[in-house]
Amino acid sequence: MTTASPSPDRRLVDAHGRAIRYLRISVTDRCDLRCRYCMAEQMTFLPRAKLLSLDEIAIIAERFIARGVTKIRLSGGEPLVRRDVGDLVRRLGRHVGATGPDGGLDELTMTTNATRLADHAETLVAAGIRRINVSLDSLNPATFRYITRHGDVAQVLDGIASAKAAGLAVKINMVALAGLNEDEIGPMLAWCLEQGHDLSLIETMPLGAIDEDRTDRFVPLTRVLERLQGEFPLVRDSHRTGGPARYWRVEGSTTRLGLISPLTANFCDGCNRVRLTTEGTLYMCLGHEDRVDLKAALREGGIAALDAAIDDALLRKPARHDFRIDRGAAPATSRHMSVTGG
Ligand code: SAM
Ligand code: SF4
Repeated sequence: MTTASPSPDRRLVDAHGRAIRYLRISVTDRCDLRCRYCMAEQMTFLPRAKLLSLDEIAIIAERFIARGVTKIRLSGGEPLVRRDVGDLVRRLGRHVGATGPDGGLDELTMTTNATRLADHAETLVAAGIRRINVSLDSLNPATFRYITRHGDVAQVLDGIASAKAAGLAVKINMVALAGLNEDEIGPMLAWCLEQGHDLSLIETMPLGAIDEDRTDRFVPLTRVLERLQGEFPLVRDSHRTGGPARYWRVEGSTTRLGLISPLTANFCDGCNRVRLTTEGTLYMCLGHEDRVDLKAALREGGIAALDAAIDDALLRKPARHDFRIDRGAAPATSRHMSVTGG
């Protein structure tokens, strides 16, 4: 753990008394897949001219580190489709374990769909990444292709195997989808047990317009948990990340089961995170439109203006999201998870 701590006036504490220690960065809104619950098939992406440069991402991230952030997750879109992502990982990796006035990271991590992971696993490890999250909604090739619209599960499994061989711990993220993969959740947990991976199940969230009504696919994880408890010896695990997940462990194993259930259980009270988009916008909550333009602040006023914009953002961080899944209802936000960084 890092021992560095910023001066009290620089510390990141929001208006509700929550300390912000976790920054998620969407390094690109682009993706090589089109998961049905995440994106529309004809998704439009930001023009490249609007994106933060790698250097700007690093400067903003380093400012957050100096002000007390100890964990950064790189996400997207698909982070590994950004050409210079390896350079960013290496630069931020230098802060892992650092102590001193400029702060340091306890953890740098990534969420990826793993289609390109086989090519990057060694780079991630060399830069100081120890654990990654991989999205895998089905082990069945046809179901996987249907959910992602064209993905090849063999490529993803190859990426996961490379990550494991390189020494990365892998947590599988699986969005529970009625009529698509709900019956595969038990087998997925069994596979994770066999492979030594953790598993996090996620409720589909109303973020951005897609080509279907999310209500048709919504599965409350309360229902899933009851079923899994009949199949596996699950014990509660006290692990907390300041996120919406609650954890169980399969008794006699190291496999942890996380339930990310923002719809059926709200854990915003302990929220410790903010999210930076590839366009340089800081979102204080996944489920709200309110935002602060850090790119403009940095470009127009340098570090002092960046600090002031971060302070403004903290004051505006909402107490909680208001997600609802109702037939015909508009999404909670017009932007997709791929823009904010899941
Ligand atoms: N492309 C990478 C991936 O899929 O792992 C990283 C970005 S993706 C947006 C991050 C996570 O968000 C994935 O686990 C994905 O399943 C999840 N996700 C995307 N849209 C979602 C939604 N509307 N509701 C719940 N989870 C969602
Ligand atoms: Fe791409 Fe990840 Fe969204 Fe799937 S969930 S479309 S892999 S960003």
